[in-house]
Amino acid sequence: MRSVSIFGATGSIGESTMDLLLRQGGAETYRFVALTGGRNLARLAEMARAVRPEIAVVADAGCLPELRERLAGTGIATAAGPQAVAEAADRPADWVMSAIVGAAGLVPGMRALAHGGTLALANKESLVTAGPLLLEQARRHGARILPVDSEHSAVFQALVGEDMATVERITITASGGAFRDWPAERLAAATVAEASTHPNWDMGQRITIDSASMFNKALEVIEAREFFDIAPDRIEVLIHPESVIHAIVGFCDGGMIAHLGAPDMRHAIGYALNWPDRAHLPVARLDLAAAGRLSFRAPDPVRYPALGLARAVMETRGLAGAAFNAAKEVALDAFIAGEVGFTDMARVVEAVLGELSGREGLGNPARDLDMVLDMDQQARRVARTAIDGRNWS
Ligand code: NDP
Repeated sequence: MRSVSIFGATGSIGESTMDLLLRQGGAETYRFVALTGGRNLARLAEMARAVRPEIAVVADAGCLPELRERLAGTGIATAAGPQAVAEAADRPADWVMSAIVGAAGLVPGMRALAHGGTLALANKESLVTAGPLLLEQARRHGARILPVDSEHSAVFQALVGEDMATVERITITASGGAFRDWPAERLAAATVAEASTHPNWDMGQRITIDSASMFNKALEVIEAREFFDIAPDRIEVLIHPESVIHAIVGFCDGGMIAHLGAPDMRHAIGYALNWPDRAHLPVARLDLAAAGRLSFRAPDPVRYPALGLARAVMETRGLAGAAFNAAKEVALDAFIAGEVGFTDMARVVEAVLGELSGREGLGNPARDLDMVLDMDQQARRVARTAIDGRNWS
C-alpha cells in the first residue's frame, strides 16, 4: 500500500490533494502517515478522522489541547508546534505533498526528502529560498521532486522525452491577477479585499494577493530557474488573461510545446500523484471553440516591479532568494494588516535587498540550511525595521 503525507492539508492545495486521494480510494488505497495544518484544527481533525493517519500535527502550539480532544479515542497521535511539523516529515512516506504556505514549508520538505520517496512540491518558496540544497538533498537520497505549481508541472510535462540541451526558452504564463485591467495610478489605493480576488483561480489568500502584485510570478521565475536549471534570460513571462495555457517550452528547432488545461490545481496535483502514469481526473475539459480566442501580452515592468526584482535576485543568486522571499512575506503580512499599501510591498522588498546587498553574504552560496534560515531571519528584521520606520525608497 502506498503511504502518503500531506503538509498543509488544511489549505487550498491540501484540500485539493485530499479530494483526489479520497476519489482514488482514500484509506482503502493509501496508508496515511502525517497530516499537518496551521491553525484550522477543526478541519484537520475532520480530515484525520476520515483517513486515519498515524499523526495529525498543528503548527500553532496553542491548538494542541483542542486537537487532542477532537481526536480522542481514535488512536491517532497528535502533536503541535513548528518542530513537531518538521518531525512529522521524519516519518517515511512514499509520496509527500509539500503544501505549507511560505518559508515554513522548507524544513519539512528537506526532511521528507531524506527518505528517498517523492516530494510533490507546491511550496515554491522551498526552491526560491534553497533550490540547490533541496535538489542536492533529493539527489543524495535518491528522492524525486515533482513540481505541482501549474506552470512548472506544465513545463515538466512538455519536457517528457526531450533533451534539456535543446530547450531555448521557457515561457510561463500569468493571468495578470486582480488588477490587470486597472489603471496603474489606482494600484496604490488597492484594498486587501480587492487584491484577494482572483479572476481565474481559486487559491489561498496569500498566493492570490501575490498574483495581483506578480510576486507569485516572480517566485515562479526563480523556481523555474532552480528546478529546470535554465539561464534566467531564457525564462519569459507572458500575460495570458484566459489562463488556458500554463507554460510553453520553445526548442532549438523553432518548435514550441504548450500545455493547456482548465485552471484547476487538481490537474497538476493529480499528475504528480499518478506520475509517471496518467489517471482520470475530475477537472473540467476545455472547450476551445467556446473559448474562441487566446490572448497574450508582455507584462509592464512598471506595473509589476516584482518581476524586475526577481531578475536581480537570479543575478545575485546565493542567499538572495531567501532574503527576497522573507522580505516579501513580511511586506505581504504588513499589507494584509493595513500597515502598508499595495504598491509599497515591492518598495519594501527592494529596500531590503538594497540594504542586505551592502552587507556581506547575500550572494554567498548556501552551504547548509542554517545559512538560509539565518538570511531569512535577517531579511525579516530589516523588512520590519523598514516598515516601522516607513523608510523604503
Ligand atoms: P493556503 O493558505 O490555502 O494553505 C496553507 C497551508 O499551510 C494550510 O494548511 C495552513 O494551515 C498551513 N500553514 C500556514 N502557515 C503555516 C506554518 N507557519 N506552519 C505550518 N503550516 C502552516 O495556501 P495554498 O494552499 O494556496 O498554497 C500552499 C503552497 O502551494 C504555497 O507555497 C503556494 O505558493 C503553493 N501553490 C498554491 C497554489 C494554489 O492554487 N493555491 C498554486 C500553486 C502553488 P491552516 O490553514 O490550518 O492555518
